[in-house]
Amino acid sequence: MTTITVANGDGIGPEIMNATLKIILAAGARIEIDEIEIGEKIYLAGHTSGITDESWETIRRNKIFLKAPITTPQGGGYKSLNVSTRKFLGLYANVRPCASFYPFIQTKHPVMDIVIVRENEEDLYAGIEHQQTDEVVQCLKLISRPGCEKIIRYAFEYAKQQNRKKVTCFTKDNIMKQTDGLFHQVFNEIAAEYPEIENEHWIIDIGAAKMADTPELFDVVVMPNLYGDVLSDIAAQLTGSVGLAGSANIGEECAMFEAIHGSAPDIAGLDVANPSGLIQAAIMMLNHIGQNHVAEKVHNAWLKTLEDGIHTADIFKEGLSTKKVGTQEFAQAVVLNL
Ligand code: NAD
Repeated sequence: MTTITVANGDGIGPEIMNATLKIILAAGARIEIDEIEIGEKIYLAGHTSGITDESWETIRRNKIFLKAPITTPQGGGYKSLNVSTRKFLGLYANVRPCASFYPFIQTKHPVMDIVIVRENEEDLYAGIEHQQTDEVVQCLKLISRPGCEKIIRYAFEYAKQQNRKKVTCFTKDNIMKQTDGLFHQVFNEIAAEYPEIENEHWIIDIGAAKMADTPELFDVVVMPNLYGDVLSDIAAQLTGSVGLAGSANIGEECAMFEAIHGSAPDIAGLDVANPSGLIQAAIMMLNHIGQNHVAEKVHNAWLKTLEDGIHTADIFKEGLSTKKVGTQEFAQAVVLNL
């Protein structure tokens, strides 16, 4: 039995978390749940970090965190809890698999199977942002050699373990010669230690264009934080919907699992959100805590549901899908396929 911390989040968060927990518990996950409240309510209660000290303690104690998306209020003073969680818990690797499920989910890219490995603590997300004058604000980009080494080695080790053939690096080192230059240089050094794995580097702009056009050319792709954030949404959308991809945020001690999308306030409370991103995240969590057979059971039932054409609105296609369902009905269908 593993105790995990669960946060229901904001917007569509509670709906997709309810669906996900229902499925993994029905599949026999041996977990105990410690629920915490984070996000909008906590921000508005006056905690500018969106979380209380007590909840931090719960997360640190349990080490495994399944998190629904939260809404970061706009405007000054509020800190992004997503960014702080990754930094405070030392979750340096953000792993985001984006694969097509053709012919069951419509996509222009039937054979894509990309894993984006995003650096998670540094870059423009290091949180060094300030007002210089009334008219000028500044955000500093921080890249360190140890940070590059950790994430790039993680990408090659991941490729080796998962039997993947190639690791690609995206940077903009033609312009940011020192910061992105360092990332590229460390990539070349570490790639040389893995002669059995093909490696290549693309400048991010043309790399992104290639990924949008021919994603099947990519396998594992490693990049600095901001690029990884943007590219993983694009990659997930290319598979059919941003609602399909999950992510694992891995550190030395703790790990956090979440969907890659946000709290989708435009569809909150309507029972139409696709819970698949959080289900994928929960599958990664189950593998991480050694409950691989439960993970496989959930994955197969989820796949069978998609194969049966039982689709939420974001992936529903007339002629391909058989039934348009809401969040909870989708979860129920997955449970029946367990
Ligand atoms: P979003 O990902 O929430 O939504 C973008 C679009 O995708 C919307 O049209 C939405 O309806 C759709 N969408 C997202 N998830 C879906 C799903 N599961 N099923 C069906 N459709 C889905 O991005 P946004 O609108 O830019 O951000 C909304 C809020 O989420 C912001 O406050 C942002 O800060 C926050 N956010 C949180 C996280 C997180 O908690 N990890 C990540 C990204 C954004």
